[in-house]
Amino acid sequence: MTTALVTGANKGIGLEIVKQLIAKGMTVYLAARDPEKGEKAAADVGARFVRLDVTDAESVRQAAETVGSLDVLVNNAGITGGRANAPGEADVDAIRNVFETNVFGVVTVTEAFLPLLRRSARPRVVNMSSMVGSLANMLAGDTPNSLAYVPSKTALNAVTVSYARAEPSMRINAACPGYCATDLNGHRGHRTAAQGATAAVTLATLDDDGPTGGFYDEDGPIAW
Ligand code: NAP
Repeated sequence: MTTALVTGANKGIGLEIVKQLIAKGMTVYLAARDPEKGEKAAADVGARFVRLDVTDAESVRQAAETVGSLDVLVNNAGITGGRANAPGEADVDAIRNVFETNVFGVVTVTEAFLPLLRRSARPRVVNMSSMVGSLANMLAGDTPNSLAYVPSKTALNAVTVSYARAEPSMRINAACPGYCATDLNGHRGHRTAAQGATAAVTLATLDDDGPTGGFYDEDGPIAW
C-alpha cells in the first residue's frame, strides 16, 4: 500500500490532490493546520487527518511521528501574503511571512519526512510551485512584479533542485497547477482546483525512471 501526505489539504488544490491520490488506491494523510477544517475535509473524502502547520516545527515533528511511514510527500500549503509588495514599496515583514510558509515551511516538512521517505521503495516528493516563480517568465514581463509570492516560488524551485540532487534515488519535482479558482486568488482562476491537481498527481505517481529535479505543468516542462 502506498502512503501519501498532502500539506494544506483542507481545501483548494490540496484537497483535490488528496481525492485523486485516494482514487489511485493510496492511503492519504490530509494535513491541515486547523483541526476542525482538516477533520471535516478528511471525513468527507475518506482520508486520514493529521494536524500540521508548516510554520510550526513541533507540529511537523509530531505529524511525522504519527504518520510513521511515507512514500509520497506533496508540499502544497502556500500563501500569497495579500498585498502586492512591488519593488520600492516593499514590506519586508510581509515578505518574510510568505517565505516562512512557502519556502522555510517546505524545508521544515521535507527535513522531517526525509527519514520516512528514505525507507520507502518508491519515494516521491512534489512541491507546489507556480509559473510566476519562473525567472524566464519574470524576464519576459509575464508575471506580477512582486517581492513576496513570486520570489518565494523561485526559491522553492531552487529548494526542489537541491533536494533532488541530494536524494538521487527519489523523484523530487516542482509542479505548477495553472491559474485555478481557489480562495488564494478570490476564485479568479480560469481552471478548476481539480484540473490544478493533475500535474502534482502525475509527479506523485512517476515511474522509477521518471524525471527528478524538474519543473512541470500538465503539458510538460516549464522554463526555469
Ligand atoms: P488555497 O485554497 O488558499 O489553499 C491553501 C492551503 O494552504 C489551505 O489549506 C491553507 O490552510 C493552507 N496553509 C496556509 N498556510 C499554512 C500553514 N502555515 N500550514 C499548513 N497549511 C497552511 O490555495 P490553492 O490555490 O489551493 O493553493 C495550493 C498551492 O498551489 C499553493 O502552494 C499555491 O501557491 C499553489 N498555486 C496555486 C495557484 C492557483 O491559481 N490557485 C497557482 C499556482 C500555484 P487554511 O485553510 O488553514 O488557511
